[in-house]
Amino acid sequence: MASVPEAPPTVAVIGGGFSGLLTAIHLLRQSPNVIVRLVERAPRFGRGRAYQTAHPDHLLNVRASNMSAFPDQPDHFRDWLAADGVARPAEAFVSRGRYGDYLQSLLRDEVSDPSRAGRLLLEADEAVAVEPADGRLRVTLAVGRTFDADAVVLALGLLPPAPPPGAEPEVLAHPAYVADPWRVDPETAPQGDILLIGSGLTMVDVALSLAGEGRRLTALSRHGLVSRSHAPTGSAPQPEGSLATPRAALRTLRAQAEKVGWREAVDGIRPLTQAVWRSWPLSQRRRFLRHARPWWDVHRHRMAPTIAARLSGLVVSTELEVLAGRLEHVAAEGQGFAVRFRPRGERAPVTRSFAAIVNCSGPRGDPEAASAGLLADLRRRGALRRDPLGLGLDVDDHLRVIGADGRPTPGLFAVGPLTRAAVWEALAVPDLRNQTAEVARAVARSLAVAPA
Ligand SMILES: Cc1cc2nc3c(=O)[nH]c(=O)nc-3n(C[C@H](O)[C@H](O)[C@H](O)COP(=O)(O)OP(=O)(O)OC[C@H]3O[C@@H](n4cnc5c(N)ncnc54)[C@H](O)[C@@H]3O)c2cc1C
Repeated sequence: MASVPEAPPTVAVIGGGFSGLLTAIHLLRQSPNVIVRLVERAPRFGRGRAYQTAHPDHLLNVRASNMSAFPDQPDHFRDWLAADGVARPAEAFVSRGRYGDYLQSLLRDEVSDPSRAGRLLLEADEAVAVEPADGRLRVTLAVGRTFDADAVVLALGLLPPAPPPGAEPEVLAHPAYVADPWRVDPETAPQGDILLIGSGLTMVDVALSLAGEGRRLTALSRHGLVSRSHAPTGSAPQPEGSLATPRAALRTLRAQAEKVGWREAVDGIRPLTQAVWRSWPLSQRRRFLRHARPWWDVHRHRMAPTIAARLSGLVVSTELEVLAGRLEHVAAEGQGFAVRFRPRGERAPVTRSFAAIVNCSGPRGDPEAASAGLLADLRRRGALRRDPLGLGLDVDDHLRVIGADGRPTPGLFAVGPLTRAAVWEALAVPDLRNQTAEVARAVARSLAVAPA
């Protein structure tokens, strides 16, 4: 009797932003018989949260020369720009919308490549559940349809911000409270005083979108620190000195900054950060997060110089003020809000009224806090757990998701910002392009399909 040919393995990649798209591409290229089902709930595949914007002031915060999607083709993005008739210098900061076009062109190439014909299936829906079924994993989509896969990669991106501390329940349902900063709409946002909770790069995006129209913007964060600006940099040698603890690393970084400049010192340590992070015990990682993170973030995640200049302009014209303080209480008041906060270093709290609030406080780190959707489903099944630092998912060195029992959940992998507790640097393209290739290799190994 003729033997029935074995069905090719299927991998579900949930989330079609940069991480999901690139994981799918690496899987298709590394494993010639694998079928990939890429699941995305947003209208357009490939753009994710960061690259869906069409706002001209929303620029990449990484130079064009370092934004290739592929680790082994460093000029890939710049070559794409040149082929598209818009050659840009390596130092240029291109718009994020343009980068989204690049990612969508990669998707088109993949779909039309004859060697991948029929192996990339696009599922335009939200995945709401993943459960074991007949030795495989069954993915349920919001519409109710299901399909089975041999492995599932979670590429869900950053979680939305946590509700502001001290906010009364009616605040969260108030029409002038914007919980998701990426949904802020300058056309419909009220005029008057607007509170932006947080002072990171998300705040910068929102401030540039909302500025004008007679609005006065106040950004409030614990330290009131704002990202520094990029500037032309010289060579960035690796620092000499101990990196054994956060305190020692800071000393080494300061000494290096005196010698070569702070930007070069931070850039010089970047190739080492994942190894350093992995070498620190949990207690040291915790210490870093508690004491050094805000300073690291503003020096590490810099703004394009034109954006920094626009932001300074808003501060000088008093359209934007940045305050350091701790939010204590938020209550609905008329059409807007009464907000009480304690300015940093002061004892007496201050109460001010705002017409609207936008929560720019950064992504929530706790996947166990999700009350609905895929993460809540996986948590209920014990398939995942929060990492001990509260930065995202607990994963092992092969990016396998660790379940409530402390063991890898069979067939379940994760990639992208939710894995940052394991590696620290899993936020930006220069890190994610390596990690997506890595997770594709780990999945192929688990399915015992030979990488090409
Ligand atoms: C505003 C902003 C600007 C940034 N700028 C830069 C930059 O200039 N340079 C840089 O290197 N990095 C930048 N980053 C970092 C950015 O996070 C990474 O570059 C990268 O885009 C992360 O991609 P991702 O796919 O992991 O996450 P995301 O882009 O968040 O994509 C996750 C996708 O998963 C989908 N999804 C989630 N859950 C489900 C589900 N259950 N079912 C179906 N789909 C689901 C979402 O709809 C989303 O499209 C920026 C980030 C932000 C937020």
